[in-house]
Amino acid sequence: MRLILLGPPGAGKGTQAQRLVARHGIVQLSTGDMLREAVRNETPIGLKAKAVMEAGKLVSDEIVIGIISDRIDQPDCAKGFILDGFPRTVAQAEALDAILAAKGLKLDAVIEFKVDQEKLVDRILQRARETAARGEPVRKDDDPEIFKTRLEAYNRDTAVVAPYYSQRGLLVTVDGMRPIDEVSKAISDVLETV
Ligand code: ADP
Repeated sequence: MRLILLGPPGAGKGTQAQRLVARHGIVQLSTGDMLREAVRNETPIGLKAKAVMEAGKLVSDEIVIGIISDRIDQPDCAKGFILDGFPRTVAQAEALDAILAAKGLKLDAVIEFKVDQEKLVDRILQRARETAARGEPVRKDDDPEIFKTRLEAYNRDTAVVAPYYSQRGLLVTVDGMRPIDEVSKAISDVLETV
């Protein structure tokens, strides 16, 4: 199974992706996680991406497309994958189509999380507090001001990705404001129909 999770930052994509991993034995490909690892390891990509990410802006299409293309070739992706945080622009969606077509692979569904954007900043602040309480480092971009920039980037560049997939008959929408278990149930109901 090959899925895309779409939605603004803080919509719950990562949480649901982890549940899908456990349930379906497929891998989660989060470009945000991969980039943060590159930043930690100070790789050439990490060095380029660090300041952009900390400012809440989008890393270049070229970088993330390269990362995803290489990652999909790894053997653990053979059973399927969940893309979380990619594609974030129409150019990325077009590149993904080309990558999948070249490999003879198809997407099964694109799941869009509909959320009330006003409530997202509270979720992000709560995530930051919980992370700090566990003694783990808090993401620099989980800050109210930078969060605004992330949301603007979403509304400007990523919101148009949903219609791209809707035109291709792949888009399904779930209500991301429901409790976590209910969102999971809505997603599993959707997946039974694809
Ligand atoms: P979020 O919690 O906002 O969904 P992610 O962990 O997915 O955040 O991504 C964090 C940051 O990594 C983004 O703000 C952006 O700078 C960068 N990033 C992640 N994925 C992409 C992408 N597909 N295109 C461009 N930038 C990306």
